[in-house]
Amino acid sequence: MKKRYLLAVLPLLTTPLFAQRTLIHCGNLFTGTGTTLQPQMTVVVDGNKITAVEKGYSAASGQDKVIDLKNKTVLPGLIDMHVHLESQTRRGGNIDNFTLNPADVAFRAAQYAKTTLMAGFTTVRDLGGSGINVSLRNAINAGIVDGPRVLTVGKSIATTGGHADPTNGYKKSLQGDPGPEDGVINSPEDARKAVRQRYKDGSDLIKITATGGVLSNAKDGSGPQFTQDEVDAIVKAANDYGFAVAAHAHGAEGMKRAIKAGVQTIEHGTLMDDEAIELFKKYGTYYVPTIIAGKTAADSARHFGYYPALVVPKALAIGPKIQATFAKAYKAGVKIAFGTDAGVFIHGYNAKEFEYMVEAGMPPAEAINAALLTNAKLLKMADQIGSIETGKMADIIAVDDSPIQNIKTLQAVRFVMKDGKVYKQ
Ligand SMILES: [Zn+2]
Repeated sequence: MKKRYLLAVLPLLTTPLFAQRTLIHCGNLFTGTGTTLQPQMTVVVDGNKITAVEKGYSAASGQDKVIDLKNKTVLPGLIDMHVHLESQTRRGGNIDNFTLNPADVAFRAAQYAKTTLMAGFTTVRDLGGSGINVSLRNAINAGIVDGPRVLTVGKSIATTGGHADPTNGYKKSLQGDPGPEDGVINSPEDARKAVRQRYKDGSDLIKITATGGVLSNAKDGSGPQFTQDEVDAIVKAANDYGFAVAAHAHGAEGMKRAIKAGVQTIEHGTLMDDEAIELFKKYGTYYVPTIIAGKTAADSARHFGYYPALVVPKALAIGPKIQATFAKAYKAGVKIAFGTDAGVFIHGYNAKEFEYMVEAGMPPAEAINAALLTNAKLLKMADQIGSIETGKMADIIAVDDSPIQNIKTLQAVRFVMKDGKVYKQ
């Protein structure tokens, strides 16, 4: 009896988990490999992979499932190169460092991750938190939490008192003297140790704060914060572990040092001068503008009490400048990667950045592609994500209108599939 039961369930166990194909009928398709929409297309998904992209609405056979997006425009899942999934801006939020336990941060992070995925971002680079972002990535990969595919730096690397020194603005008795383990360095030797610690922690890449920053509770928002030999040591050590390096920078001098050291991306880049622009082009460094973060920080700074007093003048001076910097850099031929700094603004509004990029002179298709194959290549994942092509992971989203005609349509994503699984329909 028992043996017969076993024989009966055996075929079920040997049937492939995803025998059923999914045919997505797309009213219009933007594959991410060009700049135009293709009308009436079918994307065939088998398991977590795209197995065919066909002209017309292919007929379903046998067990095939059909998803009808005939009145939508379908695109690849978007990629954001700069988010902070552990936190989200709010009035007086700097107190959170003293009142939230790691578990509180983790629950919030899970919520922000879900929000990000539902906004159509299926892959993100987390550029700094306490290290809970590493656990979040693992939980998402394990299917425990719904969120985008995350590549994370864990904790950013800074200098003592620099942007991303975790004890900035604390009273003296609470400051201690954080070191490389906490992401604070003061020599090339410290730099190497900090990178190796990130490797040990399970980070996917390295982030440094090459200059002062706007939202840290410190006076300076733009001066360089590493010596050249410190940045060089970070990038060299990072290269040994196959880590790309992302550098936060507002001021020109810190930006130049980071570019010369060989970082992959400059984040914000607000005060870049002509010499910095030439260095970007010479070294092939990518610029991640985060226009939306600058605008949001400036807006929030106008509300009394939103930020600590030291932050307000920095946010007002630096924030509004980023869009003009982006326009200038783009015109000059600097390579652009899409990134927003989500967390500095409310998670889920990431696609507003497209609108600001287009407003500043970038054609819509180019802005969208900056969030697709450009980012996929920088993440060394261009063979898996960033376009709708046979063999790629099934990361697929849909919006109401043509984003080429109406870029704002990306701010209302109606359908989200990540890795072959539908999260929003
Ligand atoms: Zn950031």
